[in-house]
Amino acid sequence: MKKFNYLIPVFSLLAISCGKSNNDSDKNKSEYTVNNKYEFKDTPSKGFNDRISALVFHYTALDQDKSLETLIKGNVSAHWLIPESGNTVYKLVSEDKRSYHAGISSWKRRSDLNDTSVGIEIVNLGYTCINNPKSDQCPKNEKKWYKYTDDQISMILNLAKDIQNRYKIDPLCVVGHSDIAVGRKVDPGPYFPWQQLANAGVGAWVTEDEIQQQLKLIQNSISDDITTFTLQTRLYEFGYDIRNSNYTDKFIDNELTKKIFPEFSDTDSKIKNWKSIPFDNLVLLNKLNTYSSKNTTDAINIKDIFDINLTMSAIDAFAMHFLPEEFLSNEVADNKKLLATIQALLIKYPNRAKSGCGY
Ligand SMILES: [Zn+2]
Repeated sequence: MKKFNYLIPVFSLLAISCGKSNNDSDKNKSEYTVNNKYEFKDTPSKGFNDRISALVFHYTALDQDKSLETLIKGNVSAHWLIPESGNTVYKLVSEDKRSYHAGISSWKRRSDLNDTSVGIEIVNLGYTCINNPKSDQCPKNEKKWYKYTDDQISMILNLAKDIQNRYKIDPLCVVGHSDIAVGRKVDPGPYFPWQQLANAGVGAWVTEDEIQQQLKLIQNSISDDITTFTLQTRLYEFGYDIRNSNYTDKFIDNELTKKIFPEFSDTDSKIKNWKSIPFDNLVLLNKLNTYSSKNTTDAINIKDIFDINLTMSAIDAFAMHFLPEEFLSNEVADNKKLLATIQALLIKYPNRAKSGCGY
């Protein structure tokens, strides 16, 4: 019987490759034939974890019929779809398969969340632009967001709780599409019930009191304004990918980089291997921060590591998720309050992994 278990995936692989054109790579795959030559011995190892380590929420921005049609027939999908009302949750893709919901994405310095997450789509129209409903470029303060229905919130709570418990997902890895695709996506929007979810034990949330406690500490220890760079550093550490896509080139050519990281330079002063610079390390980011605060002329170059437009989008994404009232009233918190909120979250939910969501 054990052999039989192993045959299933191999046969299904063959079935898939038979259906495709027989180019070279398909031919190679079909050379893996199963016969009675080998036996398989179950030898369990302790070295493994779940492939699923994140939960991502979306809204469809379409009505129910169009949502279903798009998610079933198109090249976008999700594992689950929550309709507008009722108590029927649609299972679109098995959780052990990759569904195409995240697209280009990154969270906690790991990319392509389709590989490691469960995606839940919710039927919700997103927003309309008050003064120009057909505009693609709607100013923030003209967006009228749609609320979620009570039925939906109840279905979201039940489904999310079940998924988080089954995969033991880190609370800070229960995220919105807007968190993992900064500057590209704004779903599930500011009305998503993050607080209710956290009250039910799913995902992360900090109260105004918890934020104020951290704010006091920050105000006591830092007298000046928080620099944008400090905030960027913390947003990046928290999970948002706000790097400037050109930053590596600039970094390699940057004289300043050579001064700060002589250990990564070789004799002709070129950076040996920029990939070996530990960008993920908060200590390193602090080192940059300290340097930039003392050397204001050079600091301008260092700040190029982060993209200012992406930063603004990340602040919106963060506010939509953790400070939705401020977001909705167009009073997104100042740098100190944002920093205090991040700090409160990290204290309440200490990072389990240095990067990514898995252990
Ligand atoms: Zn989405």
